[in-house]
Amino acid sequence: MRACTAFKRLLRLPGASILDVAFGAEGVIVTVGLRRRRRICAACGQTGGHLQIHDRRVKRWRHLDLGATRCVIECELRLLRCPHCGVRAEAVPWARRAHHTRDFEDVVAWLAQQMAKTPIAGLLRIGWDTVGRIVARVVADHLDERRLAGLVAIGIDEISYRRGHRYLTSVVDHKTGAIVWCSPGRNAATLQAFAHPARRAQALDPGRLGRHERRL
Ligand SMILES: [Zn+2]
Repeated sequence: MRACTAFKRLLRLPGASILDVAFGAEGVIVTVGLRRRRRICAACGQTGGHLQIHDRRVKRWRHLDLGATRCVIECELRLLRCPHCGVRAEAVPWARRAHHTRDFEDVVAWLAQQMAKTPIAGLLRIGWDTVGRIVARVVADHLDERRLAGLVAIGIDEISYRRGHRYLTSVVDHKTGAIVWCSPGRNAATLQAFAHPARRAQALDPGRLGRHERRL
């Protein structure tokens, strides 16, 4: 089996063709090509030939380690000039607008439900702050905008952390058992935020939550 075929099966990067594999100081460098030729603006999603190619740029993403070796994905992207958004690098299916692949970020988000940030940062060899930013991106990506639609019966609960010094109030859909909203605090003002759409959006912003709140 050729090395490129082996890496294609191993990495399973959607929409990517493996062009080359090399070993460098950073680890395994896998050069890929974007199979999609259609031009798509990464910001607004519009497509078409009117998105002119402004330039090209090589971008890298950290992928899940291969054994004990780091794996870096490298791809040359087109910089497209969108009439609404200006010049942007085209979007790729294997990564959000970030320096890590989706698979890598999904593993970080799953681990964040099991353990604190510090061991995740050590295990995956990333910065402590990076863990928080990745979790915020994954939550924003998976948050179901329709979760409040058709809500009839709710349950309200509070969870204490930091030895009872801080609280998190959560609202649960009684029918499905799913948490549909949560916010730091446990008083009437906390719950009023649930009834107020603008404040509800603020409370749900993962970037505003501390590390204990995200874990809970
Ligand atoms: Zn655009």
